[in-house]
Amino acid sequence: MNQSIRIGHGYDVHAFCQGEHIVLCGVKIPHNKGFKAHSDGDVSLHALTDAILGACALGDIGRHFPDTDDAYKGIDSRVLLARVMELIAAKGYRINNADITIVAERPKLAEYIDAMCEVVASDLGVQTDQVNVKATTSEKLGFTGRVEGIAAHAVVTVVAA
Ligand code: MG
Repeated sequence: MNQSIRIGHGYDVHAFCQGEHIVLCGVKIPHNKGFKAHSDGDVSLHALTDAILGACALGDIGRHFPDTDDAYKGIDSRVLLARVMELIAAKGYRINNADITIVAERPKLAEYIDAMCEVVASDLGVQTDQVNVKATTSEKLGFTGRVEGIAAHAVVTVVAA
């Protein structure tokens, strides 16, 4: 196994549908819409999970958890992340740090950021200062600007466990 730091990037989008809340980084957030998704639609954890898989050369979230499989219908994305953490541990890696950017015009996310960081740090088995979650808008441009959905980017580094 390569002992150097490895980097991974993930990106995901989910469209809004009718609903009363969304889940971002495992935190339930009241909203006048929900996420159209096979799972709970936690776009930020999907981006993070893909980044971790990418860093460890383990493919992507769709390969491990196909959305054609009813086993994953409505599933908590933290469960998928936990399975990926087991995969990378088995391959001899641990998380060094994670940085997540959520692109959302609405809802406003500032008051939920600390809770998101705590959930992610706990799920990754790291300290909260190894995790950063930030939110931005797209200045009312594009699908996020039109409040049609939310996008998320994630970057992680992993090192030998
Ligand atoms: Mg997704």
